[in-house]
This record gives sequence, C-alpha cells and structure tokens, in this order.
Amino acid sequence: MTLILALDFGGTKLAAAVTQLGFREWLRYERHLSPVDGNATTDLEIMRSLIHSLLQGETPAVIGVSFGGPVDATTGIVRLSHHVPGWENLPLKDLLEKEFGVSASVDNDANVAALGEHRFGAGQGYDSLFYITVSTGVGGGWILNSQPWRGTAGMAGEIGHMVVNPAGPVCLCGKRGCVERLTSGPYMALDAKEYLLKQSNHFQGKKLRALVNNNLDLITGKIISDAAAQGDDLAVNILHTGAWALGVGIGNVANLINPQRFILGGSVTKAGKNWWNTVQNTARETALPEIDFEIIPAALGDDAPLWGAVALAESVLTSR
Ligand SMILES: [Zn+2]
Repeated sequence: MTLILALDFGGTKLAAAVTQLGFREWLRYERHLSPVDGNATTDLEIMRSLIHSLLQGETPAVIGVSFGGPVDATTGIVRLSHHVPGWENLPLKDLLEKEFGVSASVDNDANVAALGEHRFGAGQGYDSLFYITVSTGVGGGWILNSQPWRGTAGMAGEIGHMVVNPAGPVCLCGKRGCVERLTSGPYMALDAKEYLLKQSNHFQGKKLRALVNNNLDLITGKIISDAAAQGDDLAVNILHTGAWALGVGIGNVANLINPQRFILGGSVTKAGKNWWNTVQNTARETALPEIDFEIIPAALGDDAPLWGAVALAESVLTSR
C-alpha cells in the first residue's frame, strides 16, 4: 500500500490526512486550531503529534505540504508566514525529509489549492486556470498547460496586490487600492468600523451595528456578508466595492493570460449571489469582448489545500 501524507499549515489551523495512491477519500484525518500566541515551533510540535496519531506506526511513501505563506517550491524553504512568527527561512522540506526518511514537496497554499482543484475539483479537464482564494488575504495560483506556473521566484499569481484603485486606501504592502485591501474579510471589516466611528449620524449601517451589539471590534467579513444579506446599506456598499475590485482584477488577468477558468475559494466567496454577480459582471466588462472565460466556485472547499498536497505528493512519485 502506497501511503500519502498530506499536511496543511494554515494561518489559523493545522490539518493532516493520509490517503492511498489513487484513492479519493481520506483514510484518516486530523485537525487542530493553531494557538493564537503560537509560533513556528509550536505549530511544528502540534503537526508532529497529528502526524504520529495519523500514521499509527506506518511509513508514508511521500509527503505533500501546503503552507500558508510564500515558499520557494524548488528548495522547500518557507520565506515567512504573515500570521505566525518564526517561519522566516525555515527549511520545511528538509526538516520533514530528515524526520520521516521520505521525499517531501512543499508549496504555498494558493498554488497547492490550484493544483488540487485542477486534479480533483472544479478544474478537472481544463489545461489553463487561475485559482483565487479570498479570505483573510487574497492569493492566486496558476495552472498553465496543466502544470503549476510559479514564476521565477515562486511569486506568480499575486492578484491580491494588483492595484485597481491608485487613489484607494493603503494596503499592508504599502500601495494603495490593491484587490486585497478592498476585498479581504479583515479589510472590509476595518473599512466598516472606520466609517461607523467617523460618521456623526447613525443613519447608515444600522443593521450592521445591531448584529455586533454596537461593539464595532466584533465586525468581521462574515458579519458584513450577514448584514448585507439583511439589506444593510453600508455592508452592501463595502461588499460591492470588494466584489468590484476583484472583478476588475480578474478582467485584467483574463486580458493578459486568457485562461479558461477562474476558480474562487475562501470564506468571502460565501457572501452570496449579489457578490458573485458583481464579480462576474465587472470582470466581463473589464475584459475584452473576444476573451471568453468562466468564474466558478471551488469544489473542494476547506480541504482544497490538503487535496492539493496529495496532488503535489503524487507528482513527486510520478516524476521518479
Ligand atoms: Zn497590497
């Protein structure tokens, strides 16, 4: 039996699973929340205990890893994590290979999820696609000619930091009006909070205020979606601006690379029909009329990084 071990180091959770080569179901699956004050060492300790409980003394043939941050996929060295300290330049691939005595392959979560959707999800049978995750951040992963396209230093696909409004608010990257700055959950929440703090009348955002009992610190991207679904004018505006920004980004990418499919995953993509319509219509208006593409939801859900890790592991086996 050829066992495959798949690992997912997310910003907020750690997950691990084992399957068998050719299987499309997990034999065993474990997940654990990442401690809020954790670091790379605590994350690795938790992952180690998940792995030992999963393997039950067996040895995997290969390990595939999805990491929530920039990674050099050729060396398997993590550059950093935006959420967890201590990952700077950590040689994750070497570490796992030494510890378990088998080959490992490591890539960033958006690239890995793109591979997962291509092999097992909404991208099956398509040779060019762009996967976009819209959640705490916004990341993208390419499949071109049925292969991952990572760019020279593994940095391809950064649609999150494509500028769509140069006069917009400042992003964590230092530029203004990036897609991520306008459409990610935490930034939408920040914009809502700042608006509500500044305004003198309480005319806009009434339902949004009610949903958090006037405690503006409790506003999240999810709460904004909920308020928008109830017709809250401020939430509808903010969500619309975010969807518009993503649509402009997608339309420009379509013009540039002309992929068959855009596959969207992540918590913000659960914001409802209006959000999807705005993304699709804006992208359609932004792209040239001759350029055809589809924008569809991801099929693998929260398991996309783990199934992508399986695809990554399988490509190690087939390249031998
Ligand atoms: Zn940015």
